Amino acid sequence: MRLTRYFLPVLKENPADAQIVSHRFMLRAGMIKQQAAGIYSWLPLGLRVLRRIEAIVNEEQERAGHIPLLMPTLQPADLWRESGRYGDYGEEMLRIKDRQGRDLLYGPTNEEMITDIFRAHVTSYKDLPLTLYHIQWKFRDEMRPRFGVMRGREFLMKDGYNFDIDRAAALHAYNRHMVSYLRSYERMGLTAIPMRAASGPIGGDNTHEFLVLAATGESEVFFDSAVTELKLGARDVDYDDRTQVAKICEEFTTLYARTDETHDAALFDAIPEERRKVARGIEVGQIFYFGTKYSDSMGATVVTPDGSKAPVEMGSHGIGVSRLLGAIIEASHDDKGIIWPEGVTPFPVGIVNLKQGDAGTDAACEGLYKALAAKGLEALYDDRDERAGAKFATMDLIGLPWRITVGPRGLANGVVEVTSRRTGVSEEMTAEAAVAKIVAIYEGV
Ligand code: ATP
Ligand code: MG
Repeated sequence: MRLTRYFLPVLKENPADAQIVSHRFMLRAGMIKQQAAGIYSWLPLGLRVLRRIEAIVNEEQERAGHIPLLMPTLQPADLWRESGRYGDYGEEMLRIKDRQGRDLLYGPTNEEMITDIFRAHVTSYKDLPLTLYHIQWKFRDEMRPRFGVMRGREFLMKDGYNFDIDRAAALHAYNRHMVSYLRSYERMGLTAIPMRAASGPIGGDNTHEFLVLAATGESEVFFDSAVTELKLGARDVDYDDRTQVAKICEEFTTLYARTDETHDAALFDAIPEERRKVARGIEVGQIFYFGTKYSDSMGATVVTPDGSKAPVEMGSHGIGVSRLLGAIIEASHDDKGIIWPEGVTPFPVGIVNLKQGDAGTDAACEGLYKALAAKGLEALYDDRDERAGAKFATMDLIGLPWRITVGPRGLANGVVEVTSRRTGVSEEMTAEAAVAKIVAIYEGV
């Protein structure tokens, strides 16, 4: 993408109403525009990151054997009357009447609708296990929408639902979700710690939240610092292997890590003092096992091997896709702007032409741009007629992890400069070597 042809409305001034750094940088970098309290347009740069996060979530869900579908944002109220939640959900639910006077709602979550789909089509244990998920906009009329996309009213969520024959199979589905979530967050450059949580309006007794540590997080968390060292890494996971998947979950949930709702002071005090941490965290996902709560009330039964009928065992599992942008920025930035991890960056690399209009630098930049494109990497080429300082400031603000700087002086020596946004370290090398370096960085991403 050539910057002169792009739509990147960066702001010079700090927006007055943005209280936390991620909100401030998302506005300044021209990623989002607020349209109403907690409701945002996704401008091109923001949309690119959102799509990257969605892609990672999709890949990891499909790797775990979970199947995508797409349910609508608007739901008939009658489904929620069946489960009893229409009355219970309260003011967070946006209720709508259509021209026929029928009650609709903008879905805050989809347990009822997915149960309705299941009961319409699945009747036998032979069709299980089954996990269906979608990535869809939700609406919750939050009392205090704030912090930009972190606590929106309209927000994008991945929500998945497992259907299983018995408790053991449903707990395996729960564990599959935990492992696939850990892998997703790691690919986004995040450490998200599974913490034992309380269940709230979804119901159920087995539940973990995934928290990214950040001073601006809304949850108070208590943990053993050793838990932050755990990494899933590139290990091979066979998602059908119940023992292996359960072992990984055990590895990640044995050390003490809880939110304030489930905190147990006595257990916490048993941790060696130097590892006892109280901090704040951002909830970027949650998994629940809730058994037959919805299948009972909505009549979702299957024929079991012995010929009897039983309500299907279920769980639901969510990732805050749009909230993740805020969480990643809170975890990865400096004074000058965002520092995107390679896994989610809107563009893999930026090209800065220090002397736009100079035949030599223009040609070198075009050459780099095309060579990267030939390798499947779309650079953001700053081809504006601007001072070098302004170009660097824009690149630093929008946070591309790598920058290639091209100027007449370097070209005279046959080199360009490759700079890491994270470390600030620059290296001179030929244009070919620069392309090879960037290609190698993104090979495993
Ligand atoms: P919170 O406690 O932050 O209100 P929640 O526990 O009500 O969230 P869940 O029902 O667990 O939310 O939804 C799954 C995920 O969706 C959450 O882990 C969070 O990452 C995201 N999410 C929930 N509410 C919002 C919101 N208002 N804006 C953006 N993301 C949200
Ligand atoms: Mg939650």
